[in-house]
Amino acid sequence: MIQRRCPDCTVTMEETTVRTGSGYGLRIDGGKHDGVLGRLGLETTTKLEAVCCPECGLVRLYADVDANGDGDGNLEA
Ligand SMILES: [Zn+2]
Repeated sequence: MIQRRCPDCTVTMEETTVRTGSGYGLRIDGGKHDGVLGRLGLETTTKLEAVCCPECGLVRLYADVDANGDGDGNLEA
């Protein structure tokens, strides 16, 4: 997993799990593949990775683009 840094504290953020009250993992609806999400190669629904800053509690969600097979999936922060 890619190391994520908090934009405010610059400490390494820790992987965490964000779920709905019903216990479902969060996903984004990518919809059609001709939008920006399509260019990222995302499936119709894509899992989200959550990271949490241990200093300030900021939680960020990242779409799981690692499974993207074509070309550069590089999303530098
Ligand atoms: Zn922070």
